[in-house]
This record gives sequence, structure tokens and C-alpha cells, in this order.
Amino acid sequence: MSKPFASSTDTTTKTDTLEILSDGVYALTAEGDPNVGAVEGEDFVVAIESRATPAASRDWLKILREHTDKPVRYLVLTHYHAVRVLGASAFAAEDIIMSNASRDLVAERGEQDWKSEFGRMPRLAKNAEEVPGLTWPTITFDTEYDIELGGDRGKLELRFLGRGHTGGDIVVWHDKSRTLFAGDLVEAKAALYTGDAYHFDWATKTLDNVKAYQAENLIGGRGAVARGVTETDAAVEQTRKFLNGMIDNAGRVHRAGGSLKEAFEATRDALAPEFGAWPIFEHCLPFDVQRLWDEYAGIEHPRIWTAERDREVWAQLQD
Ligand SMILES: [Zn+2]
Repeated sequence: MSKPFASSTDTTTKTDTLEILSDGVYALTAEGDPNVGAVEGEDFVVAIESRATPAASRDWLKILREHTDKPVRYLVLTHYHAVRVLGASAFAAEDIIMSNASRDLVAERGEQDWKSEFGRMPRLAKNAEEVPGLTWPTITFDTEYDIELGGDRGKLELRFLGRGHTGGDIVVWHDKSRTLFAGDLVEAKAALYTGDAYHFDWATKTLDNVKAYQAENLIGGRGAVARGVTETDAAVEQTRKFLNGMIDNAGRVHRAGGSLKEAFEATRDALAPEFGAWPIFEHCLPFDVQRLWDEYAGIEHPRIWTAERDREVWAQLQD
């Protein structure tokens, strides 16, 4: 019997949980669905990540508005993925910020990614017809951009730490509360999506750079907020372990001259005991192993996922 495609049959509504990590520092987690955050400046709010649609973003803003009515001056997007950016219009932000590399990915593959992601995870596409189009930044940068928050609120440091989950991921560091919004570079007890990733960079220097912050609070792309350096380190290392498990197992099959399907099965068998019950494990793994296989084949720039290619790879590996 074939498995239902990706998360297409996962229709269970998840519960949102707001965590106030410090004065004016917010994280909203959702039982393994994508996390979002916000940090208050003296006169404005910086929102970190959009949700997949304007309606879904409005649900988040309604919760945030119970705590602050300051306008959203900046919307910071950690990377280009549709479910992280297409609800941007709801924030009415003065500026939308992403890395130059992320902007290039929107231009190159934003349309295809939109169809791919909404097809894989239709539950996130609440009132999808309201999405006004692709989300374009008004401010971009290569590696560093700072936002002064005003008063005694410190500043936000937006940093590109190396290629990882995509070629353009950034993190957002709040110095005063030692809080790191890590985007999809780190997941807390949720499976990694690596279909657009650079596994070898990510598992080594990029995660080393994330870990070097020694954050007191770490908000990853999915899953609970890690609190205290012991927990934030553990979240980084758990992410690395997932990546290294893929690299070890798919790599072994590749060196032995095996097939993609064999690499997928070896990787799933090796990772399932520890990670198999985590959100979106079965959903992600075919796309993940396909991309890692491409890296072994010397394909530097990730191939574009389309709704059609999604189904082909799924049929090849999960059926
Ligand atoms: Zn992502």
C-alpha cells in the first residue's frame, strides 16, 4: 500500500503556544508546525518569520496584539520557503528583510516552491487565495544587518552564518536577552527538511557558528523553544546528528555504488529509531535523501522542486 503524499492527509489543527522569553521577546510555537517570533523595539515591533498565508499570519498577530500595539516596522524572513514568507502582507511592515541569497532564490524558484509547499502541506495554506503574490524584500544584505531597538532594548543582529537548510538562511540574535531565532537551521524534536540544503556545510561550520552564540533561548524552525545553554546546545547537536546520520548512511550506499532507493532505505532504517516519530519525518525524508544524493553526484545548486517532481520522487521512494 502506498503512503499518502507528504503531509497531504495531515489535517489535525495544531495548538499555538506563546512564550514570552524576556521583556518584549516573543516566540509562538505550534506543536511542530513552523514557529514565528517578534521582538519589541521602543517604538516598533520586529516580526521574525511570516506564516504561510495572510490569514495564518493574522492569527499570530491577534495573539501578539494582546501584548503590544506597536506597529510592525520590520518583518525579517530567515529564508525563502513559501510557508515562511507568503503571509507577509498581513504584517503591513514598513520593510521586509532577507539575505541577498534568499532574494535570488525567490526570483529563481519562488513560484515553483509555492505550489510545491502548498501541495505537500495543504493544512498550512489557510485561505490561500488571499496570498497577493510572491514576497519580495525591501532591504537585503550579504552577511550582516543590525537593527537598533531603541531605549534600553538592545539590538538585533541579522547574520548569514554559512549555507545550511538553504543557500540563504540567516539567524536573528537579540544580544540583551541572548535569544537566537535560528530559522530552519535548527529544529527541536522535529525532522529536518533538507531538500534545498547544503548538508556538508550545514553539519559542520554553519552549525558550529550557530552553537558559538551560546544562546540562552533558541527558537528553531519547528518544535519547542530551547531554554538555557544546555538545552540550546542539545538542539544544535540533535540537528547535527540528524544530518550526520543522513550523510553516513546515504554516503555509504553511494560509495558502494548503490541506488538512490537503497540510500533512502538505509537512511530511514538508521534514523527511524531515534527520529521516526518526530513531526514530518516521513514527509521530509524522500526529498532530503534526494538532495543529499544530488550533492554526492556533484550537483552544487539544488534542483528546483516542482509539484510534479515532488510526486515523482515520492512515488520512487515512498511507494
Ligand atoms: Zn524552510
